[in-house]
Amino acid sequence: MARPRVATVWLEGCSGCHMSVFDMDERLLELADKMDLVYSPLVDTKEYPENVDVVLVEGGIGNEEQLHFAHTMRERTKIFVSLGDCAITSNIVAYRNPFRVADVIERVFAETTEDGSTRPGTEVPALLPYAVPIHEIIKVDVFIPGCPPSADLIHYVLTELLEGRHPEIRNRFG
Ligand code: SF4
Repeated sequence: MARPRVATVWLEGCSGCHMSVFDMDERLLELADKMDLVYSPLVDTKEYPENVDVVLVEGGIGNEEQLHFAHTMRERTKIFVSLGDCAITSNIVAYRNPFRVADVIERVFAETTEDGSTRPGTEVPALLPYAVPIHEIIKVDVFIPGCPPSADLIHYVLTELLEGRHPEIRNRFG
């Protein structure tokens, strides 16, 4: 029987949630025997594949590229998991939300550079007016809270999903 196809994605976040995935240490080897990692910052695949069984997504949605990508992932994935508080509440990536996009761009790209002349070109995806949690854009099936979520919780959820069960997250915080 084919092994479940798993992906991990880093949207607008600090990569700390992916660091927690690494903190599973030797348990990663057990999981590697039970699944195929088909897309991830750890895998040299450029295009998000079809027929993904489970995706763990870190970070909120703050620009047009991420918005489009979220829809693509949803179309191609059976079980969509929001990994961490930035994905679930937008958390730190929402710190810019009280400010206008134009002011954020000025502050980040112009005011903090030596000659004040730097601006992003078309090679940088346009910011959305607000950074938002993923479930405001697409349906999310499972939420793994934490900043970052613990390695134990990620391991529990992934193990349950790979075994075809729905993880009972609330019981893990009781
Ligand atoms: Fe980083 Fe915390 Fe956001 Fe994860 S939830 S991306 S650890 S700030």
